[in-house]
Amino acid sequence: MILEYSTNKRDLKQLSFTADLVVIGGGIAGTCCAITAAREGLKVILVHDRPVLGGNASSEVRLWILGATSHMGNNNRWAREGGLIDEILLDNLYKNPESNSLIFDTILLDKVLAESNIKLLLNTAVFEVSKKENSISSVKAFCSQNSTLYNIEGAYFCDASGDGIVAFQAGAAFRMGAEAKEEFQEKFAPTAEYGELLGHSIYFYSKDIGKPVKYIAPDFALKDITKIPRFKSFNAKDFGPWLWWIEYGGRLDTIHDSEEIKWELWKIVYGVWDYIKNSGEFPEAENLTLEWVGHIPGKRESRRFEGDYMLIQQDIIEQREHYDAVSFGGWSIDLHPADGIFSEKPGCNQWHSKGIYQIPYRSLYSKNVDNLFLAGRIISASHVAFGSTRVMATCANSAQAVGMAAKFCFEKGLKPSELSNKEQIKQLQERLIYNGQYIPNVVVKDRENLMDQAKLTASSQLNLSEIPPNGPLLDLIHSAAQMLPLGEGKIPKLTFWTFAKAPTKLTIELRISSKTHNYTPDLTLKRKEIELTEGYQHLILDFEEELKSAAYIFICFLKNENVQLQYSDFRTTGILTVFNKTNPAVSNYGKQSPPEDIGVEEFEFWTPQRRPNGHNIAMKIDGGINLFKVENLLNGIQRPTFQPNAWVSSADDRLPSITISWDEKKAINEIDLYFDTDFDHPLEQVLLTHPERKIPFCIGKYKIVDDNNKIIFEKEGNNQTINRIKFDQNVKSKSLTLILEHPDDNITAALFEIRCYS
Ligand SMILES: Cc1cc2nc3c(=O)[nH]c(=O)nc-3n(C[C@H](O)[C@H](O)[C@H](O)COP(=O)(O)OP(=O)(O)OC[C@H]3O[C@@H](n4cnc5c(N)ncnc54)[C@H](O)[C@@H]3O)c2cc1C
Repeated sequence: MILEYSTNKRDLKQLSFTADLVVIGGGIAGTCCAITAAREGLKVILVHDRPVLGGNASSEVRLWILGATSHMGNNNRWAREGGLIDEILLDNLYKNPESNSLIFDTILLDKVLAESNIKLLLNTAVFEVSKKENSISSVKAFCSQNSTLYNIEGAYFCDASGDGIVAFQAGAAFRMGAEAKEEFQEKFAPTAEYGELLGHSIYFYSKDIGKPVKYIAPDFALKDITKIPRFKSFNAKDFGPWLWWIEYGGRLDTIHDSEEIKWELWKIVYGVWDYIKNSGEFPEAENLTLEWVGHIPGKRESRRFEGDYMLIQQDIIEQREHYDAVSFGGWSIDLHPADGIFSEKPGCNQWHSKGIYQIPYRSLYSKNVDNLFLAGRIISASHVAFGSTRVMATCANSAQAVGMAAKFCFEKGLKPSELSNKEQIKQLQERLIYNGQYIPNVVVKDRENLMDQAKLTASSQLNLSEIPPNGPLLDLIHSAAQMLPLGEGKIPKLTFWTFAKAPTKLTIELRISSKTHNYTPDLTLKRKEIELTEGYQHLILDFEEELKSAAYIFICFLKNENVQLQYSDFRTTGILTVFNKTNPAVSNYGKQSPPEDIGVEEFEFWTPQRRPNGHNIAMKIDGGINLFKVENLLNGIQRPTFQPNAWVSSADDRLPSITISWDEKKAINEIDLYFDTDFDHPLEQVLLTHPERKIPFCIGKYKIVDDNNKIIFEKEGNNQTINRIKFDQNVKSKSLTLILEHPDDNITAALFEIRCYS
């Protein structure tokens, strides 16, 4: 029994900790930063004020993690973010293809708990910062659950708290609101009338319980639904992130007025539900109950802190190159009217770039606090650029770069800003790429990789001469294009199969992208008009055209309702069909037609279909495409770019294998394999479900044998992009043979990279 006498005052229990890196905020950004740094050997403390990790992606808010793939709705092909966020989302796909938010919480918790270098403090809010000269020396945090005050010292700090609680208190330069057009010549900069801040949102989930449910709204619920100009857009089936436009607070202080904003959002949500249940407009809502309402709002925007570089609109639209690129983005520039749900304007104003863009390292640390990194939505970007960088897979990707940068700074005793010279950046990029980070247009050779001295042979390699006509015949109701990678030189003759319901003229265009690394087919090289008679026929196409450099070509069959195209069930890495279709969820209406003066380009969207749909167009290719060579495994690129970059086996190779040989025995203690987990496919972790637990292109089962044919490693059930195999004792061998399971009758085996280290 504890019995204490009256006293004037008591102190809280206090605990002190020290870390190499202290990460504040366990949203997707903070979590990815902490895990990355911990895996690199830093002692990390992750302080998070909520009971579960994930921030806006957690079950407390329930937003889907999006990034450059943009729900597969824009022209960014093979653009899913690599590295840690990829690992997390593939794990989630395996354990939680139904996209249950509570299960996603446990995936993040598991990931952090697996790292012995991380001390995780949940329910713990940082509220005070101490500095020595220009650096943060410690932060204070309080956990209301265990009534404990923490004093946490660190060598480096990463603010991933969304509002930038630590950066703010440490005196870091920041901005809140929108820059005027003139400051950076950003033509899309909003006016004060449109508003300078994005507001908060609260989501709800509904559920059919199979019997009528009567709903009595709380007294504080909004009574007059017509106060919401778009109230007619509500319906009985949309909930969760589909109702992202229940947004409020962009005219208020989105930090200090957050509680007022939350009350207004609750008022709206319960008022909307009252309208759905009790207005009589939605009889189909009779059996629906309100299953969940967010208790805290998702916050979109508040402070943005200044680094040595501020990303701006032109970086995104012109896809400007940066010597210190460490990450990338590809979501549209997505601004919202500050009046949110009460605005007469559309809920968002999204403009896409023609491809993905680089994010420089100099945007990821404070320009004036010496040991402070920035991660998440607070990175150094103008309001307009933030409109794109703010999505969570992009935040995760940049935060991985921060976690890695912290390791280098710690090892070398550098300030974050001192890591930004070219030589240091190269090392940072190299280490990030080794860990699966994709940095557009950056290839850094790893000098330690033994593959540079190896000879490679494969049991087969695909010469793509036929995409067999074993799939469905489908109406050409939307223009469809087959994407094919080609080398420089003459475009091969192609044969297709069509069925015409009536005599008609079919238009076929040969297009490429004006920028080699993009997949926006904005240059038409040739156009052919072909008279079709009624019935099934094969078309031989010779465009008589040369490619000046290697690129993806688009064979575009323009919409014709009298025509059906023969498709194939055959799929292979680096080959896709795309359609000139719409996807209103990401403001894709087939073509982006911006007003003239907003600094954004006009172009068409050609987008693929989600699995299990998405067949290739059947065809014969004269001479075949012979770009799926085993040498691709050495080029250091782990996804298709303007070339497939993968080794692919031939379709009839039932026991695909690759042999790596050296002139002399090597002592090997690490082998890394980079599989194809279809970087074209987004892996949303809420609401949208997925048809499979493992990406079909990813090889699940394989073994590695040495020069004595002894199995040195075997794996079953692989669902991950990167397999890092480490041996307790070096394997000494002149050769290694990797024997892979043939994935499927209609899918070829593929691999992007192999690395070996002593
Ligand atoms: C309604 C809405 C819709 C959106 N739609 C999408 C979408 O569809 N897809 C997408 O990818 N992105 C979307 N975004 C953007 C995205 O969610 C945010 O930009 C992103 O979450 C920012 O990541 P973050 O890690 O910086 O912040 P957060 O996810 O907010 O995480 C920061 C965490 O830090 C914690 N924290 C704050 N203060 C402290 C403190 N003092 N001590 C300890 N911890 C603290 C917070 O509790 C929070 O959980 C949307 C945002 C909103 C609000």
